[in-house]
Amino acid sequence: MQATQMLMQAHALSRGGVATISGGRERTWGEIAQRVPRMAGAFQSLGLQRGDLVAVLSMNSDTFLELFFAVPWAGGALAPLNIRWSIAENEYAIGNSRARLLLVDEHYVAQALELKTRCGSLTHLVFMGGGEPPAGMLSLESLLDAAAPVPDACVKDDELYVIFYTGGTTGRPKGVALSHRAIVYSSICYLAMLPSIESLRFLYVGGFFHFSGASPLWYITLAGGTHIILPKFEAEPVMRAIGEHRATNATLIPTMVNMMMNHPDFGTYDFSSMQACIYGGAPMPEALLVEAMRKLPGWKFFQIYGMTETGGFSTMLRWRDHAADRPGGSKLRSAGQAAIGVQVEIRRPDRSRAGVGEVGEIAVRSGALMTGYFRDPEATAAVLADGWMHTGDGGYMDADGFVFIVDRIKDMIVSGGENVYSVEVERALYSHPAVREVAVFGIPHEQWGEAVHAVVVLKAGATATQAELVAHCRESIAGYKVPRSLEFRDEPLPTTPVGKIRKNVLRDPYWPRRPS
Ligand code: ATP
Ligand code: MG
Repeated sequence: MQATQMLMQAHALSRGGVATISGGRERTWGEIAQRVPRMAGAFQSLGLQRGDLVAVLSMNSDTFLELFFAVPWAGGALAPLNIRWSIAENEYAIGNSRARLLLVDEHYVAQALELKTRCGSLTHLVFMGGGEPPAGMLSLESLLDAAAPVPDACVKDDELYVIFYTGGTTGRPKGVALSHRAIVYSSICYLAMLPSIESLRFLYVGGFFHFSGASPLWYITLAGGTHIILPKFEAEPVMRAIGEHRATNATLIPTMVNMMMNHPDFGTYDFSSMQACIYGGAPMPEALLVEAMRKLPGWKFFQIYGMTETGGFSTMLRWRDHAADRPGGSKLRSAGQAAIGVQVEIRRPDRSRAGVGEVGEIAVRSGALMTGYFRDPEATAAVLADGWMHTGDGGYMDADGFVFIVDRIKDMIVSGGENVYSVEVERALYSHPAVREVAVFGIPHEQWGEAVHAVVVLKAGATATQAELVAHCRESIAGYKVPRSLEFRDEPLPTTPVGKIRKNVLRDPYWPRRPS
């Protein structure tokens, strides 16, 4: 099945239901099913041919959602650009994808005009906003008015559908090529794991330029649900929109949960419509999770672990496994079991299978895996082998098949010959009530090779000394894991556009000769 045909299924399933709510405007599935074939016609009239790439630089919107169906309907593939990237980074992404068209909303006009002068592959700039287009751009809505609908190009299932760039948490983002088959497979896996797929109303808080933010575009569509689209994540509008639009589902990165719960008006919003809250993308501190479960008693939490390269999530910790008194013991620290339709194994450095409880590299196999890093066969060969994606994440599996992520292999600290997982130390610090945010990493040490170092941001109005935090760690983790040094910061820690803490930015100054 091609991803385009999901749209037709949604149209049939929803029987005229609301497809999108965005910027005060509602569109039904019927309207979108009419606009998409005309939009595809407009792209073909601009010269778009089968296999051509279309870049998009836009905040989330209903029109952006339509592009995910209209571009492949015309036979092309998408390359959504990260809205927080610099011009140079977006120039790199357009150069890498050799996109022909760049679609842009009203927020990024100046950047798009500059990109057109820098990127030779771009033939047209198309303005997604309303009203007159800026000079040098065509208006999408005017093109649409003039266009005739065209039939679905019906590309093959294994053809390129979309390139997503990875989060850039550990360095330069990598372009991940995903086929129609991967997206359809991953959407079915998502739906198979949700508590209910009836009358879904999904609230977007993550950008469509990142896989985790975009994945509901397909699985919610496949279920004929409603997309509630906010332009970007901000704690207050997100909390307000949940009650206003009766959202049932959302996906949150741990830092977002943290920001919402630390908001002074947190207690005043109506969250009663929420059914399932998916969190993941970065380690969730247990203390934060327990606090969220206590403060949001009606929400069912689901943790997902996955990466752009696996085309979605690979493991899930279901709501039923969040209970502290779960029969068989608490699994709260794990990332759950392999998702339906996904195989997960732990591998030793020689890629043989590790035993129960033995830490190794997490490997994933499913129909949703990337085809490869776009135009980078060497980097692809380093991670994809025999149908398995070698994730670069360290973890172990218990006897029940629950996966415990210990750290990114790159972030592990080797101190005096002992392995220290930075995430474990971060968890110990997060369990102190004064701590708001932390990042733990290794810094050079003459005797031990690396020493454990922590950067800590305290909650507003809270106080704690270095000695107090170190003593607190000693209560829950072994002495060699306890930070040898600790620094306080007043500002929030630097994050990637999806809200993950960029440890390399904090760590690099200590390692003049070790680029991350
Ligand atoms: P880059 O690859 O560019 O450095 P990134 O790895 O953050 O960035 P993504 O593909 O968005 O880019 O993120 C996937 C990574 O996020 C995983 O490999 C893992 O390290 C981390 N991650 C995802 N889900 C979880 C989770 N539930 N718990 C812990 N870590 C997670
Ligand atoms: Mg990665």
